[in-house]
Amino acid sequence: MADAGPGTHEPISGGCLCKAVKYSIAFPQGCWPPKKNNICHCTQCRKATGALMSHILTVTPSQITWTCEDRSFREYSSSTGIFRGFCQTCGSTLSWRNTKTPAEIDIFSGTLDEDVLIGGDGETGKKILMTDKQLWCENIVPGVTDGVKSRLMYKTNAEGGFLGGFA
Ligand SMILES: [Zn+2]
Ligand SMILES: [Zn+2]
Repeated sequence: MADAGPGTHEPISGGCLCKAVKYSIAFPQGCWPPKKNNICHCTQCRKATGALMSHILTVTPSQITWTCEDRSFREYSSSTGIFRGFCQTCGSTLSWRNTKTPAEIDIFSGTLDEDVLIGGDGETGKKILMTDKQLWCENIVPGVTDGVKSRLMYKTNAEGGFLGGFA
């Protein structure tokens, strides 16, 4: 999975646990490496994924091609204007979007295929997972989920709640 040219990358793939929902993310000119990726410690992401924290990659909807069998992809509205995409067959949480920011969609990075995350020379996974921000840090579990480094850390998801960060 080498770079396909400056600012571009070959498409990366992912999907749900049962493989009924699959997706491919393209990285046309200027889209590589991904500009936004966060770790979210919020209670809603915990409940939706069953994981203590979620790594999320933000892309534009036009970068994603979904392939879905049997209409397995569904969305649950967890708050006003917030839609969490999941597979209704196996329950995997796949995406998050806010109707107020239609130019962005978040993909839960744990649903990327294994060869994307840890395959090849490791550079693709590293560039996707290199965490920019951690959000909802007020929910960090001391001694358990507080060991992750990121450039910026916020108490909630608001810029005003800046807690610091690492270089
Ligand atoms: Zn599934
Ligand atoms: Zn969250």
